[in-house]
Amino acid sequence: MSIIYEPTGMAKEYSPYACNLYIGCSHCCRYCYAPHTLQRTADNYFGVPQPRKDVLKYLEMDLKKKRFDKQILLSFIGDVYCKNADNSQTTRTALKLLDYYNAPVAVLSKGGTRMLRDIDVFKEFGEHITVGSTLTFLDPVKSKQWEPGAAVPEDRLETLLTLHNAGIRTFASFEPVVEPAESLRLIERTLKDDSVDHYKVGKLNNYKGLDKGIDWQSFLAEAIVMLREAGKQIYIKKCLRDLAPNVQLFEDEIDPERYIVRQGEKEEIVFQQTLECF
Ligand code: SF4
Repeated sequence: MSIIYEPTGMAKEYSPYACNLYIGCSHCCRYCYAPHTLQRTADNYFGVPQPRKDVLKYLEMDLKKKRFDKQILLSFIGDVYCKNADNSQTTRTALKLLDYYNAPVAVLSKGGTRMLRDIDVFKEFGEHITVGSTLTFLDPVKSKQWEPGAAVPEDRLETLLTLHNAGIRTFASFEPVVEPAESLRLIERTLKDDSVDHYKVGKLNNYKGLDKGIDWQSFLAEAIVMLREAGKQIYIKKCLRDLAPNVQLFEDEIDPERYIVRQGEKEEIVFQQTLECF
């Protein structure tokens, strides 16, 4: 069984490869698509997730079989730093394995400071990791209404700053954008902090008609000016581009692979350790 896979369709914009370590999520976001994707009920998905059965064994088998030259996202479904049953120990071991096999990694989480427990492992990756957070609301009350189990905005923002100050490449995912004004305030705040290297900007998709009433053209126009002025790495997702056709974008701003993490410069090594060593 393969654990590392190639996402398809819109999901491919996130990352060329992905790996889901857990089943379930404790963040309970209102807009979550995961139960639908996995054909589970909300009750059967939201809660304290367990690691997938034998996930580390299969991960190592994948890493031994193939050399991954482009980033593997942890995770496309779920969050490796939510309130997991094993206190994210599986995440830590998976990261060590990925680093050992010289696989480039992107970590995306709404777990805030919980991510910092693995900052030592992130540092070990050097250039071949990027660590990011989804930023949705600056207002903590709105954040709790929409993402009740996730870290509050200040916690996520401080985590990004700590990671960035530690020399770790950071990114922020602005998707979903539920209230454009909140997302613009978050962009402004991260630019002031200088805590984010790469910005991925999308929109809210098909949520109870709410997205239909939003002026995406204005949102993108404002966001792009701020990010360009700051000289940031930008990726604008296709769903947003399609609804803001009058905003002219540069080639690098619409290339999903332009700013992904790639394999490091480590020499080809003979792998002698096994999972037990981690
Ligand atoms: S973090 Fe992702 S998987 Fe978890 S509840 Fe939120 S949207 Fe769903």
